[in-house]
Amino acid sequence: MPLEIATTPNPSPRSDAELAEILAAPGFGTYFTDHMFIVEWTPERGWHDARVEAYGPLSLDPATAVLHYAQEIFEGMKAYRHADGSVWTFRAEENARRMAASSRRLALPELPEEDFLAAVDALVAADERWVPGHEGESSLYLRPFMFASESFLGVRPAQHVTFMVIASPAGAYFKGGITPLSLWLTEEYTRAGRGGMGAAKTGGNYASSLVAQQEAAAHGCDQVVFLDVAENRYVEELGGMNLYFLYADGRIVTPALGTILEGITRSAIIELAGKMGHPVEERPFAIDEWREGVASGEITEVFACGTAAVVTPVGTLHWDGGKVEGSSEPGELTMAIREQLVDIQLGRADDTFGWMR
Ligand code: PMP
Repeated sequence: MPLEIATTPNPSPRSDAELAEILAAPGFGTYFTDHMFIVEWTPERGWHDARVEAYGPLSLDPATAVLHYAQEIFEGMKAYRHADGSVWTFRAEENARRMAASSRRLALPELPEEDFLAAVDALVAADERWVPGHEGESSLYLRPFMFASESFLGVRPAQHVTFMVIASPAGAYFKGGITPLSLWLTEEYTRAGRGGMGAAKTGGNYASSLVAQQEAAAHGCDQVVFLDVAENRYVEELGGMNLYFLYADGRIVTPALGTILEGITRSAIIELAGKMGHPVEERPFAIDEWREGVASGEITEVFACGTAAVVTPVGTLHWDGGKVEGSSEPGELTMAIREQLVDIQLGRADDTFGWMR
């Protein structure tokens, strides 16, 4: 049965003047909209008390399970405004499915896909004025998340769970033009092994990536690249983006699924590139193939992809004691793929894949 969502308007929403100022320079993740969506779960009642209410702090018992055992998952997606003023999300059904998969891994209850979509729709409808205009690739970032809200210190799946959606306007990822990322290959830290949580979107994966990201920053790099745990040999992904390798002969390779997050941008690119005549190989991709392929010129372009930046070119790869110099200019195919995705998201091209909602 679909959720019945009660909506209580925020009694003191941001003024139009304040909102205009925020939307002119939203940055990322700093400002939050007037409302939030909440629904609770217990084994007896299932999902219940769905509501949209004024955005504000939660009051949590210090024994709330998530604070101790990190039983939580989340999603990241965006709502875009098109030129005619209408508001659209990109592949929201895929976020619902990925969240259900994360639920199964973290022993959390599954929120049915239609309820996930209804929650997102209800919040976007309540806070529609927060969706920036379609110029400059701004959007409203949506953050669905689910956590163990039971107050209990026993280690077992929580018997009270809360799912929420909050929203935050996001400016363009690239402000001064698109520039290639410099990457740091960490040989010290790994992200996820066989049987671990790598394919789930759970806070712990991000907590464990922070020190590796610090290591990258200390070496003057933008982002960190993780290798597999078992052999320390296969390329996995970045802290928050998937990777693609383009070859001079037209082949495209992306690391196979298993211990990485199945990016929604990643799978869109598999479809898009196939249609552009570049079938994508999903397979284990060794770090030496990257080093040698770029050095020999066999690999002509490398890019990273994810909701935040859509597609971003990768420049130089650094590691302890060496580097392989990528192009300092964005590659042609990288930019063509980027443009096609952005045009669909912003309603500048026909949505022939049925991705927009
Ligand atoms: N890998 C990781 C670890 C991520 O956090 C993200 C961002 N969600 C991605 C890949 C890209 O996923 P998506 O295209 O769904 O944003």
